[in-house]
Amino acid sequence: MFHRVFIGIGSNLGNRRAQYQKALARIAALPKTRIVKTSSLYESEPLGEAKNWYVNGVIEIETAFSPPQLLHRLQEIELALGRKRTADTKKWSSRKIDLDILLFDNQTVDSRTLKVPHPELHNRRFVLLPLCELAPHLTHPRLGVTITDLLVSLKDGKRVMLLPPHA
Ligand code: AMP
Repeated sequence: MFHRVFIGIGSNLGNRRAQYQKALARIAALPKTRIVKTSSLYESEPLGEAKNWYVNGVIEIETAFSPPQLLHRLQEIELALGRKRTADTKKWSSRKIDLDILLFDNQTVDSRTLKVPHPELHNRRFVLLPLCELAPHLTHPRLGVTITDLLVSLKDGKRVMLLPPHA
């Protein structure tokens, strides 16, 4: 059975667009998985202590992996693309690539290692803007409102700018 999944992608180190594209290619090459849609790219002001602006976007995939299997595959891709994962890695520290499972069908997951929908999805303009391009009418499984409604009522002051396609 195939699942409809939305993945958030972010990069704020090195050649951010090139890393974004490499992550896309690796996700496309996963078994039992295909990319259905990709959003525009956005540049967003960093969270926490990170200094560099992020390149962010969202993709929609179809996959036969379960939520934990997909998380494992995405973490392998993060590591392969040079993300360092150490015990003292600070939350929101700079990273070459960050892959988050935003939504997985209409499922909710609440394990120690995986929370779906992503717990910050509804608080982040850099997630909601690209997600709204792909699925404006999709209902958040926990909050019961659409992605458009979340975006309209969002109070995230961080700046997010649409990037031109070939900058
Ligand atoms: P981050 O530094 O934001 O990439 O967080 C990485 C950690 O978040 C990983 O160790 C995951 O186990 C955990 N995590 C929890 N929920 C999710 C999710 N929906 N997508 C990706 N990682 C998640």
